[in-house]
Amino acid sequence: MSSAVIVGAGPAGLTAAYQLSKFGIGSTVLEADRQVGGLSRTVNYQGYRFDIGGHRFFTKVPLINELWKEILGEDFLLRPRLSRIHYDGHFFDYPLKATNALAGLGPIEALLVGMSFGKAKLFPHAEETNLEQWVANRFGHRLYEIFFKTYTEKVWGIPCREISADWAAQRIKNLSLPEAVRNALFGNGSSKNGEIITTLIEQFNYPRFGPGMMWERCEELLAAQGNATVRGIKVEKIRHRGGRVECVIGRTHDGESVEFGGDEFVSTMPLRSLIRALSPAPPDEVIEAANKLRYRDYLTVVLIAKREKVFPDNWIYIHSPEVKMGRIQNYKNWSPHMVPDPARSSLGLEYFLWDKDDEWNWSKDRLVELGIQECARIGLIEPDEIEDGTVVRMKKAYPVYDQHYQESLATIRHYLESIGNLQTVGRNGLHRYNNQDHSMLTAVYAARNIIGENHDVWSVNTEMEYHEEARVKTAIAKPVVSETAPATVSTVGDRLVPRLLTPEELIEAAFAKLDPVAMGAAVGIVAGVGLFIATIALLLKGGPVVGPTLSLLNNVLLGFSVTLPGALIGLVEACIGGFMLGYLFAWLRNLGIDGYAWLLQRRAMTESQRSLLD
Ligand SMILES: Cc1cc2nc3c(=O)[nH]c(=O)nc-3n(C[C@H](O)[C@H](O)[C@H](O)COP(=O)(O)OP(=O)(O)OC[C@H]3O[C@@H](n4cnc5c(N)ncnc54)[C@H](O)[C@@H]3O)c2cc1C
Repeated sequence: MSSAVIVGAGPAGLTAAYQLSKFGIGSTVLEADRQVGGLSRTVNYQGYRFDIGGHRFFTKVPLINELWKEILGEDFLLRPRLSRIHYDGHFFDYPLKATNALAGLGPIEALLVGMSFGKAKLFPHAEETNLEQWVANRFGHRLYEIFFKTYTEKVWGIPCREISADWAAQRIKNLSLPEAVRNALFGNGSSKNGEIITTLIEQFNYPRFGPGMMWERCEELLAAQGNATVRGIKVEKIRHRGGRVECVIGRTHDGESVEFGGDEFVSTMPLRSLIRALSPAPPDEVIEAANKLRYRDYLTVVLIAKREKVFPDNWIYIHSPEVKMGRIQNYKNWSPHMVPDPARSSLGLEYFLWDKDDEWNWSKDRLVELGIQECARIGLIEPDEIEDGTVVRMKKAYPVYDQHYQESLATIRHYLESIGNLQTVGRNGLHRYNNQDHSMLTAVYAARNIIGENHDVWSVNTEMEYHEEARVKTAIAKPVVSETAPATVSTVGDRLVPRLLTPEELIEAAFAKLDPVAMGAAVGIVAGVGLFIATIALLLKGGPVVGPTLSLLNNVLLGFSVTLPGALIGLVEACIGGFMLGYLFAWLRNLGIDGYAWLLQRRAMTESQRSLLD
């Protein structure tokens, strides 16, 4: 039976081990840190728990949702989401809402925003290669400046002009327009076996004691099956020969060197470090490509406040340029179990930095002081309400999508394909801005590849999520997306798979349009022929006064009477009148549906914006 060595005990590494154990393959997970969970860990400071940033658990991939539930059971809570933008002393709803945004911006700025939006629609950037062009084309330049530029540049530390448009496209894609329309039409979330798969994130799942709980539990489950996670081993060398890895060599915190051999190797370490660790070293161009990959570092200042409620949001985006912090988390709003004392709150101030920046090397006390001053400056809390604080630094938190990264990835990927029993997965492992779900999905695929399947881990989070979803649902012979939403089929390779409908197709499927001419003709014929038959029937019946009630119709039908010529006039006029009424009815109904569809699309577009800042 083969055995695997997995580098890194973050979500991807532990998922790979967990999935392999299901296939009966044992593994050893090597973790450089003293704690598991990677970027998705939970840190405990004096009983106050906090994340590296606040980790929502949401996914469109059912199998990942199943894994989370399987690992955590009833400790996987469903929590409400509230997150706003702070800018220029105001709080703005996020996604932006017109009335709230107008009130916050004031009439003059709102007018300028409107004009700039109009200009973007009339004269869009012809090219959409960078983030600035991508956002400005969709929202107008002025709105881009206010709501995207400052924050995005705080996060990435480079001008939006240097950030690839892929980044925005990938974020938006996470919550696609069709999905949002489907939700508006058929309800929030798709239901499978009676359970809700939440797709739109007004609510999200969160472990009772933070995301680290998921990964500590996973480590326990692995240990119970005899799969070790070894903490405190930093893999420094990966020895390979003849297209196969033979072993990895790690160093303990005491400086001792330890070797681990196996049949299969899965790495979640950052791609740049992986390439540098390979022995013998790859060709120069591969090392050069790896050296070009960049990462944004991250630091969080946690403040313990003597206040039960500070703000109602889970987090607030801080766009205001006068402070350095980019976002602020309120952890007790994520889960009340994150604080040991309900009379207090713990706030996580997020700073996005390069490790070369001065602030990165500031002392804990100086950073805590900076955090207190910045919170006071934007009016969130008074300095004397803070009774304690700490700092956690996390290197390589964000793989940077600059204008060169794709070229570098292509070179690295091509080289790595020459090493048969080594797979690289996860966020930094693939240099992809993946959340936990996609980091985990790549790990699931790597495990499946080990048992002989053939998945391309690099394509996860492009088209793959849908195919995976389709595959699972097809297997249980159910519709692709949900039991309530319609789908159609398309081909992927030589397979027929259900595909998601576009917003227009969805609306069309939900409310078929009426053909005004057909409707007019139908109503006209029924009215004309009906009146003709009724008139003839009364004539045949005869009597002293023939059809006194029907005769009243001559008030609206010119020249109508209950006679043979009158029946013919009534036939023609009722046909024409009925046609006009039927036509008008169908036209008005279609207009109403178009208006509703437009509202749905707008709502869906607003929902999609959410992914851009998250
Ligand atoms: C601020 C922030 C907010 C986020 N918010 C969310 C969110 O709301 N929802 C969500 O789903 N995701 C979120 N994410 C993304 C999520 O954290 C990642 O997708 C996920 O942690 C990636 O898992 P991974 O295992 O690929 O990598 P990591 O979490 O980076 O884990 C890699 C592990 O490998 C170890 N390692 C690295 N090198 C070596 C080595 N040489 N030897 C041994 N061990 C090594 C590291 O110590 C680490 O433990 C967020 C990320 C950040 C930075």
